[in-house]
Amino acid sequence: MNIRKTLLLLAMLATLPAARAEFPDRPITLIIPFSAGGPTDVVGRVAAAKAGEILGQQIVVENRTGASGTIGMTATARAKPDGYTIGLATVSTHGTAPHLFPKLPYDPIKDFTPVSNLVTSPNILSVHPSYPARTLAEFVEYVRARPGVEGYANAGAGGVNDLGMTWFLQITGAKMNSIAYRGSAPALTDAVGGIVPVIFDNFPSSQSYVKSGHLRALAITGTQRNPQLPDVPTFAEQGYTNYDVTAWYGVVAPAGLPADIRDKLADAFARAVRDPATAAKLADTGAFPLGNTPAEFGEQIQTEKDRWGEVIAKAGIKLQ
Ligand code: GLU
Repeated sequence: MNIRKTLLLLAMLATLPAARAEFPDRPITLIIPFSAGGPTDVVGRVAAAKAGEILGQQIVVENRTGASGTIGMTATARAKPDGYTIGLATVSTHGTAPHLFPKLPYDPIKDFTPVSNLVTSPNILSVHPSYPARTLAEFVEYVRARPGVEGYANAGAGGVNDLGMTWFLQITGAKMNSIAYRGSAPALTDAVGGIVPVIFDNFPSSQSYVKSGHLRALAITGTQRNPQLPDVPTFAEQGYTNYDVTAWYGVVAPAGLPADIRDKLADAFARAVRDPATAAKLADTGAFPLGNTPAEFGEQIQTEKDRWGEVIAKAGIKLQ
């Protein structure tokens, strides 16, 4: 080969994209948009430990809290779409908040690549053991008689817990004050401490306090009772048949994530939540392991966003 030909060959090689190392070749960061010890955090850590094992790389959890999870989701949307930064989206960040935050820095559909929805869970209304109301009916009567006096703790303004309670109060005609925190964990601290003796929360974070008697549960959402707290009746059983609020936690990546990386992540997370030991850990919290495909999760996000848009518009719900 003469010198010209060699140079030409080298020039051609230089224009070829560098071969991509097999994904993942370094640790992955999973952004959890709520505080440590809350349901998003617990689900994220349990699933990430197993998914990391399957992928052969550690998945490092990073809690980026505030504004009902939208701060952590903004960081996820703005990250490089290379699979090394992913986030755990929830019904709050992708279903409710988009309709309530006028300046939300992301579009829940366009700015993300859905990967896999890990679990769904009911919500639960509980009170401090010293609270006068012992049943849901007594609770409604009690707060109705004190419009704007009683408060309820929740995981973030405009999130599913704030909104779920707001919707319930609208149905009952009662008025309470929303006391919002940076996630379920700090909201629970104040509920268990009796500082804000009412809490509407995702089931996984509240259930252990109900089991230990630190909180008294009045009702859970959903069509059936939860095996973790079989004595707690549903809202539907107590007459609120058109009222339902489900929480979910799913892995998303920034928009533009290459399909092969997306599928690898989705497969690892889906296998993780179906792994018997991991599924048992999740079920112990009262959550229902799912692990669906990117396409299924994408459809679900769209449906949830639309559904909450309708609920919010119909009920005329606004942030307090
Ligand atoms: N309520 C939040 C949600 O489901 C999660 C709260 C938390 O993880 O602390 O969107």
